Amino acid sequence: MSRQTDKRATTAAEMVSHVARLAQGDGHALGLTSAQWTALRYFGRANRFSRTVTAFADYHATTRGTASQTVKSLVTQGYLSRTPSSTDGRSSRLDLTDKGRTLREQDPFDDLVGAIADLPPALQSQLTAALAHVMGRLADDRGKRPFGTCTACSYLENCICRQPDDPDHLCALVGQPMAATELDEICINFEPCGDSSEKP
Ligand code: SF4
Repeated sequence: MSRQTDKRATTAAEMVSHVARLAQGDGHALGLTSAQWTALRYFGRANRFSRTVTAFADYHATTRGTASQTVKSLVTQGYLSRTPSSTDGRSSRLDLTDKGRTLREQDPFDDLVGAIADLPPALQSQLTAALAHVMGRLADDRGKRPFGTCTACSYLENCICRQPDDPDHLCALVGQPMAATELDEICINFEPCGDSSEKP
């Protein structure tokens, strides 16, 4: 890496890091810690295969014990509900409750979403592509899974049982249809497409 490239990359990395800190608000907004906000956002965005403590621990790059404590506090406060898995007795699915969804609407993180939404669409796409690349590289370096959505996943196929007016697609990994509303949810099993371009 040349000194010029190094300086540019360092400046960009510092900006990303500072944006992440700013996006967390004052770190204790509306009675939740930043870790609890991260969990609330995660369980509001994750698909049905990924709403578990283990998947959240992976996503938040933390230990299962720490993730479990964060989730437990949100369940106790009534922001998450826990449903035992019908196939795995040791696992539960976590869902946002109505109270959790109401609080999520006041998330300080949405200021960052608004700031990005103000960018021209082409710049938003470039920013998303650049950050996806950086995130994938970092996840690879640290031996972590890169989370992503169906629209950029190599496991997404058109559903073989699809009717002409049925918008479902098939996840080839789990062999289950995915509704159109699920295609934009984040998934622990995500496997980036070779060309990293999004599917229509
Ligand atoms: S297609 Fe990919 S992202 Fe979507 S559910 Fe399947 S593994 Fe997860």
